[in-house]
Amino acid sequence: MKTTKFLTIILLLMSSCTTKTAVDLIVHNANVYTVDEQFSKAEAFAVKDGIFVAVGNDNDIMSHYTATETIDAQGKAVYPGFMDGHSHFSGYGENLVRWADLRGCLSYEEVIERLKVHDSLYPAEWLLGRGWDQNLWPVPEFPDNDKLAEAFPGRKVLLTRIDGHAVLASKEVLEQAGIDPNYKLDGGMALVKDGRCTGVLLDNTADVAKALVPSMNKDQRIQALLKAQENCLDAGLTSVTDAGLDIATIELIDSLQETGLLKIHVNAMVNPDDETMDHFMKQGVIDKQRLTVRSVKIYADGALGSRGAKLLEPYSDAPETSGLILESDDFYHHVCQKAYDNGYQVCCHAIGDGGAHHILDIYAEFLKGQNDLRWRIEHSQVIADEDFQRYHDYCVIPSIQTTHCTSDMDWAGERLGDRIKNAYAYQRLLQQNGWVVNGTDFPIEDISPIYTFYAAVARKHLDGTPSEGFQMENALTREQALRSITTWVAKGCFLEDRKGSIEVGKDADFVMLDRDIMKAEENDIPETKVELTHIK
Ligand SMILES: [Zn+2]
Repeated sequence: MKTTKFLTIILLLMSSCTTKTAVDLIVHNANVYTVDEQFSKAEAFAVKDGIFVAVGNDNDIMSHYTATETIDAQGKAVYPGFMDGHSHFSGYGENLVRWADLRGCLSYEEVIERLKVHDSLYPAEWLLGRGWDQNLWPVPEFPDNDKLAEAFPGRKVLLTRIDGHAVLASKEVLEQAGIDPNYKLDGGMALVKDGRCTGVLLDNTADVAKALVPSMNKDQRIQALLKAQENCLDAGLTSVTDAGLDIATIELIDSLQETGLLKIHVNAMVNPDDETMDHFMKQGVIDKQRLTVRSVKIYADGALGSRGAKLLEPYSDAPETSGLILESDDFYHHVCQKAYDNGYQVCCHAIGDGGAHHILDIYAEFLKGQNDLRWRIEHSQVIADEDFQRYHDYCVIPSIQTTHCTSDMDWAGERLGDRIKNAYAYQRLLQQNGWVVNGTDFPIEDISPIYTFYAAVARKHLDGTPSEGFQMENALTREQALRSITTWVAKGCFLEDRKGSIEVGKDADFVMLDRDIMKAEENDIPETKVELTHIK
C-alpha cells in the first residue's frame, strides 16, 4: 500500500515533467513590457509557430514549457516589436540602393571613395549620388568632372548637390543630354571653364540631366525593399506603414512576402488615382499575414518649411501667402466616397491649420458623428483651437511624427507666430480620442523608433537641448509614447487583435533593448541599442 502510493507520486511527478508543452522559443529572465490594456509587466513568454502562447513569470513559463530555443534575457527590457505608423518604406529603400550618400564628405576624394563603395554594392548603369557640398571641402569651389572621368571612365555619373539645385555630371551624361559649352536654357546654366563644360549644371539645366535617369528595374526594386527591411529590423521595427503606393509596388511587396523574402509587416496606403483605388478596393480589405491594404492616402496641403502648408491666416514671416489646398473639393469627395463605400480608411496629409480645417469639414460630411472608421489626419501639425474638439466629435485619428516637432521647433515659430502654441500639440490631440498613431515619415526623419519615443517624451534635440524641452505641456508620458509606437499603431490599421502587444494569441514580434527606455535617464534614451528583433 505504502509502496504503491510512493510509486503513484513518482509517476505523477514524472508525468508532470513529461507533459511540459513543447514550443519553439522561450524568453525568460526578462523585463517584459507587454503593453496590454493594463500595461502589465511579465518576466517570460513562450512562442509557438510565431505566436505568443504564454506570457507570465519565469516559474510559470519554465515549469510548463520546453523549447528548442531558450533565450535568457539577463534582466534586459523587452517590448512589443516597434511599429512605424507613417513612413515611406519603399522610397527609403530606393534612396539606399540607388543614391550613394555623399552628405558630410570632406573632400572630392571622399566623394569618389564613397561612390566606389556604392558602385561595388549596387552596380547599375548609372552611378548616382546625392548630398555633396563643396563648402565642406579644403578648397570650397565647384568641382570639375575630370576626376569622375579618371575614376569611372565611360560611365554615366550624376551627383546632386545637398540643396538639390546643382548637379555634377560626367561627360557621358552631358553628351546624352546634348549639353555643350554653347548650351542655353532659361532658368538654368551649365558652368564652363577654359572653353569646356565642367559638368556642374544649375537649376533647370540640372533638371534636364536628372530627367535622363532611368527608373529602377525589378531587381533594383527588390534590392531596395530588402535593404529597407534590413535597416528597419536593425532599428527594432517589425511593422511599417507606407504612406502612398502604386499598384506595382504593392504587388511587388506582396510577392516578396509570399516567397518569404520580406518578413516585415507593411500597411500599404494606396494612391488616390482611380486605377489604383479600384484595383485594390474591388478586392475589399486586404488583410494578409504581412500585408495590409485598407486605406487611401491623400494630401490637403504642402509643408511648413516651404510655406506650402495651408494656414487659416497668412504666414507670420510672409504675410502675402497663407499656403494652399492642393486638390478640388470634388476630388476629396470622390476619394472619400469610394473609401467609405469600400470600408477603406482615408488618411489625409494636413500640416497647416487650414489644411486640417478643410479636410475635417469634408470628413464630417461622411463620418457624421462618432464612429469606428479610424479615418486619419497625417501629421496634424498645426490645429486651430476650435478644431481639436472635432477630432473627438468625428473620431478622427491624429497620425503624428514626434520627431517632426524636434526637427522644426527652432524655426516653426517664425512661420506661425502665436499659432505655435497649437502646433505639435500631441498631448492635446491624444486627449481627443485617447490614442494617437506615431511614426517618422522616414526618410524625411531617421527611421529610429527610439528617436520617436525620445522626441515624444523629451521634446529636445538629440543633444538634450533645449534643456527645458519644447512646449512641454504637449509631451507624452513614457507609457503613452510606448503605446504610440506599438499598440496604437496597430489600432491605426485595425491590427490590434494581432499586433502591438505581447499577449497570448498575438504575433510574436518583439524587441530587446540594452536599457529600459521606461526608466532610463532621459538624456540617455537616444543612446539605446537594439539587441534583438524577433519577427513572426
Ligand atoms: Zn509622408
